[in-house]
Amino acid sequence: MNKQYDLIIIGAGPAGLTAAIYATRANLKTLIIEAEVNGGKLSKTYEIENYPGIKAIGGLELANQLTEHALKFDAELISGKVEKIQDGEIKKVTLKNGEELEAKAIIIASGTKERTLDLDHADEYTGRGISYCAVCDGFFYRNKDIVIIGGGNSALEEALYLASLAKKVTIIIRRDVFRAEESVVDKVKANDKIEIITKSLPYELCIENDRITGLKIRNVDTDEISTVECSGIFPYIGADPMTDFVPDELLDKKGYIITDLQMATKAKGIYAAGDCIVKDLRQVVTACNDGAIAADSAAKFLKG
Ligand code: NAP
Repeated sequence: MNKQYDLIIIGAGPAGLTAAIYATRANLKTLIIEAEVNGGKLSKTYEIENYPGIKAIGGLELANQLTEHALKFDAELISGKVEKIQDGEIKKVTLKNGEELEAKAIIIASGTKERTLDLDHADEYTGRGISYCAVCDGFFYRNKDIVIIGGGNSALEEALYLASLAKKVTIIIRRDVFRAEESVVDKVKANDKIEIITKSLPYELCIENDRITGLKIRNVDTDEISTVECSGIFPYIGADPMTDFVPDELLDKKGYIITDLQMATKAKGIYAAGDCIVKDLRQVVTACNDGAIAADSAAKFLKG
């Protein structure tokens, strides 16, 4: 017989872990399924400075604290990748390994996945010259030149971290304005180790002796090609929702899950929370907010 729960939470990022805290405190038999790392994107973030009540904390530390907190009230946490969910009075969650789990309610908090660099050989050099995790790999580029692509919060916050290690950091943005919060932009502009190149897109990897030695960039106005020498490239060019297992009727055109204010989707008993839903502000604090509401809604649904 399949294992049965009151609630299955898909994703152990801030939204899923907060949902687990609220669900288990409401006495729901709760399972959390995580495909990658507990804490989600938070665990790859150098520092969080906008989580109320905590002036600054390492992303991994906050991720660990959230995980510990979520498990304190007896939520079960397993590692696995969800392949399919099936609606019904009892909902079925099928994992990639074929295992089937059942629950009366589901919260989808599967987050987003970073976009990867669309250049020849980019995949081949990921992990050896190209990295999507400054906290994990920044150390390898101590006193070296680094390029960061993108002008959002992720790019700029990680640029500040990498500037503390690297000889020089060059940020390449495709427009002449940043998408990140102004306070972060100000810090980046004030950092002597950071240079900003605007109106440019990545064009070609420079590779010598099987190593990245630079990035060719194309000016979007003039089409002029220039080269920025570097040993490491960190693309932070946005993210897409991880919702390939979610039925299409619950999604918008970009693949984000549509919810109401109670975090309910169109399917009864299926809720969603965090970065994977349609919303304007994707932050740790808003993910936690969504998770708390989703769990409260699920508890009310289950208790009638
Ligand atoms: P983002 O805000 O979507 O920014 C992506 C950046 O990459 C933009 O500058 C974008 O340029 C650029 N870009 C997109 N596609 C590109 C391409 N093909 N080539 C070159 N550049 C490209 O993504 P993010 O920084 O990963 O942030 C995702 C979400 O998480 C946001 O809502 C963000 O606020 C949130 N977040 C919050 C925090 C925090 O509060 N501490 C930290 C990290 C992330 P354009 O601007 O021209 O589109």
